[in-house]
Amino acid sequence: MKNLYCLCGQAVFFENTRCLNCQRALGYDPQRRAMVDLDNPRYRACANYRDAAICNWVVSADDAEALCRSCRLTRTTPNLSVPANKGRWAILEAAKRRLISGFLYFDLPIDADPAGQHPALAFDFLEDRGSNPLVAEEYIRTGYATGRITINVSEANPVQREYTRSLMNEDYRTPLGHMRHESGHYFYDRLIQQGPWRSSFEALFGDPCLDYEQALANYYADPPLLEASSGYISQYAQAHPLEDWAECWAHFLHINDALESARASQTIVFQETLTEIPHWVDQWVQLSVTLNELNHCMGHADAYPFVLTTGVITKLEFIRQVVDQLSPN
Ligand SMILES: [Zn+2]
Ligand SMILES: [Zn+2]
Ligand SMILES: [Zn+2]
Repeated sequence: MKNLYCLCGQAVFFENTRCLNCQRALGYDPQRRAMVDLDNPRYRACANYRDAAICNWVVSADDAEALCRSCRLTRTTPNLSVPANKGRWAILEAAKRRLISGFLYFDLPIDADPAGQHPALAFDFLEDRGSNPLVAEEYIRTGYATGRITINVSEANPVQREYTRSLMNEDYRTPLGHMRHESGHYFYDRLIQQGPWRSSFEALFGDPCLDYEQALANYYADPPLLEASSGYISQYAQAHPLEDWAECWAHFLHINDALESARASQTIVFQETLTEIPHWVDQWVQLSVTLNELNHCMGHADAYPFVLTTGVITKLEFIRQVVDQLSPN
């Protein structure tokens, strides 16, 4: 994320709704990637900002949509007659705004394509009986199918998420991590499946047509340990070539967001171009080691509990090439 400022010059942050210096009400304009004065007649607050206080983005005054670029992608919101769900919805939308801002940064396509081959990206935030005994669904699997990302609302409950993370023996589990992973499936369909990158994809990740359900059943029956020098970013990446891709895709987005923030704050002095992979990966390794050490100083676990092996870096480089073709950045 770049540095953001109020009109008065005060530094403000992506999630802010008010300047603590001049008390001005603020909104984030995703197109300009800037904080704007909410009283500026060129903008309207997103309806979820105005009516529900779960968003801080604005819409152009001439936009026919009441919801912002991020909120309008949500097809199913949690049932708000359950009191805890308002806060959980807010957590999910906050993660989604950061996700979408990354897509806008790279000019990644999320609207339906004019030829009708790809649907617009959409989100369903669904509950199962694990979090709400009143719903019919026994179990909702966080996942992706034909343009729709489904997130189990319990992922926005910190107690349940930590329980699941511990049970699954995972080092990292966040709503944003889920969304970045699932978006990888959408962009595989959109950018790789039938395009010129397909053969390079198969050489790096394997055959995407391998029986998916069987591969996942095999994985969960006996998850293979992650070897230290393997070409996989995580244990789960070993489940199927498409899961390997989605895991790497999520890391590409994590790393670029974090590097932009580090560059903006001058935590690390960057050279002008980030297109040389060894350069940006080296920068990230240096930064993430520092980040982890700072976390340890505060009694927290690693912020980035992953190792970028040569095999993983090659996969990240491939993703960078795919994205570079779309993006002027
Ligand atoms: Zn201000
Ligand atoms: Zn919104
Ligand atoms: Zn997946």
